[in-house]
Amino acid sequence: MSADAEVSPVESLPDTPPWLEPLLQQWTASGAQRGHAFLLVSEDPEEAALFSRRLAVAQLCHDRQVERPCGHCRSCHAFFRGTHGDLMQVERPEGKTAIGIEQIRQAAQFLQQTALYGDIKVMMIREADQLTLAAANSLLKTLEEPAGNALLLLSTSAVWRLPATVRSRCQQLRLPSAPHEEGVSWLAQQLGTDDQQADRMLSLTGGRPVSAWAMGNTQEAEQQLALIGSFAGLDAQTSGPPSSWSTVDLEVLLRRLLGWAEDNVRDIAKGDFARQAGSWLLLHRCLAELWFRLKQGATPAKDIAVTEVFRLCRSRGHAVFPGLAQQFLFSLGREGAGG
Ligand SMILES: [Zn+2]
Repeated sequence: MSADAEVSPVESLPDTPPWLEPLLQQWTASGAQRGHAFLLVSEDPEEAALFSRRLAVAQLCHDRQVERPCGHCRSCHAFFRGTHGDLMQVERPEGKTAIGIEQIRQAAQFLQQTALYGDIKVMMIREADQLTLAAANSLLKTLEEPAGNALLLLSTSAVWRLPATVRSRCQQLRLPSAPHEEGVSWLAQQLGTDDQQADRMLSLTGGRPVSAWAMGNTQEAEQQLALIGSFAGLDAQTSGPPSSWSTVDLEVLLRRLLGWAEDNVRDIAKGDFARQAGSWLLLHRCLAELWFRLKQGATPAKDIAVTEVFRLCRSRGHAVFPGLAQQFLFSLGREGAGG
């Protein structure tokens, strides 16, 4: 294949977020001195994974005089086509709960093979906190002393879950969190939307721009935005639950409602706290108890559960609310626990 054959990107990378640029430049400048095992830590798993891909392509590109991957060399072509023979991504397989030892063994073998495109092989482990203990242990030797020239990039949003033995063998890079305005304008640019839409998207992901970018302009994002939009009018809604509630899982609905209740508790003005916080906290309690039941495997009829949750949300702040909430908790077997 000729070097200027047309590339249809499978692996698309957005512009590097500006709040990550200094760290990227620092990493690039450190060159050959920088060691071979890195742990990229961000509160946003998508951001950590994105930065990992960004470092991988910076390492693999043959035209290293430039700051960005050139996009034209043989190595960049393969990277963006998603077929780079010197790059391996390890992640939790779909339907599995963890990254297993067999995956790490295969990855270690991969690193032992001769590089095809240049002089280095790169292994990325996405959400490395999901390694089983056995998998983490089998990784230690590779982290310490990889066979051949290798770069290992582990990313995580839950660094405390990684065994200390893994953490101590990596150089940690903590990604700074995005300033809100910068996050909004970067996201708007990447998605081709206006700032207002980008801001709404950010609210879906707890203010994490790269997660919002990964979600994209999808139907799912639209559904979730409609869902969040429905909460503001609940007090006035007299008929049944908003129609947007029927398009999502009960679990998703509860997660969003819990976030809504938490935001409201946080936003209560200090003077009004005693008066208002009680009912928000009681609503939160009810939602959290139902959420907990679902997590334990309960499968309530969705229609009934949604209607009950709707009644609770709508009546919050009214005289009947404490009674309704107690009935709700009673039906979950948690009577009296809320006071
Ligand atoms: Zn290149």
